Amino acid sequence: MTRLFVSDLHLDAAAPQAVEQFLDFLRTQAADAEALYILGDLFEVWVGDDDPDPTKARVCEGLRTLTANGVGCFVLHGNRDFLIGRDFCRKTGSRLLADPVVADLDGERVLLTHGDALCTDDHSYQELRSTVRTPEWQRRFLALPLADRELIANQARAGSKEHTSRVIPNIMDVNQDAVSTAYRATRVRRIIHGHTHRPGVHDTAIEGEPAQRMVLGAWYEQGSYIRYESGRYELRELPR
Ligand code: MN
Repeated sequence: MTRLFVSDLHLDAAAPQAVEQFLDFLRTQAADAEALYILGDLFEVWVGDDDPDPTKARVCEGLRTLTANGVGCFVLHGNRDFLIGRDFCRKTGSRLLADPVVADLDGERVLLTHGDALCTDDHSYQELRSTVRTPEWQRRFLALPLADRELIANQARAGSKEHTSRVIPNIMDVNQDAVSTAYRATRVRRIIHGHTHRPGVHDTAIEGEPAQRMVLGAWYEQGSYIRYESGRYELRELPR
């Protein structure tokens, strides 16, 4: 049974190549899989399930077709699309999972997470994260008219670009202590995440046992995914 993992597609009308590549991925590789796990930031921004954006609607239709054909689709929130809600799930036939979540894959417990919570060196981001993830903040935000929500989201994106251009690159990566804590607290020996846009496979040892952290890449440069089959995980790139 094949399972596929993707993250950080950052899809919107400004990234037509990534949109087409993902829709093609859904029709080909994903169509033959048992399940697709989307580990956050499927969309560049998501201001609510009532967003009528036609590009996002096409992505939702692609997911709908996938799940209608019997492929399970599981979605984690990213830092860009943490407002994905119940209507999105209904429309696409996908299921929202908590972040982080321990999945049982053929008997192996694997920690799935977007990855932003592991970047604990970025204090100002973590502060913002804890604010916008409260139910009160989200309820107030979602009660605003769509145009206001879009305006606020665009300002937040501009602020985030400014922030990421200022902080030293290492701060934007995972904190090694946070990673060790995650391994120990959940007793897993495999972590799969995205967010840092640094695709790679990191082998380590936790309590004397081999452990592996697999990082998915972002799709605006090149599509990447992890393919799991019969106990084997492989990080793959899609040609652009
Ligand atoms: Mn992210």
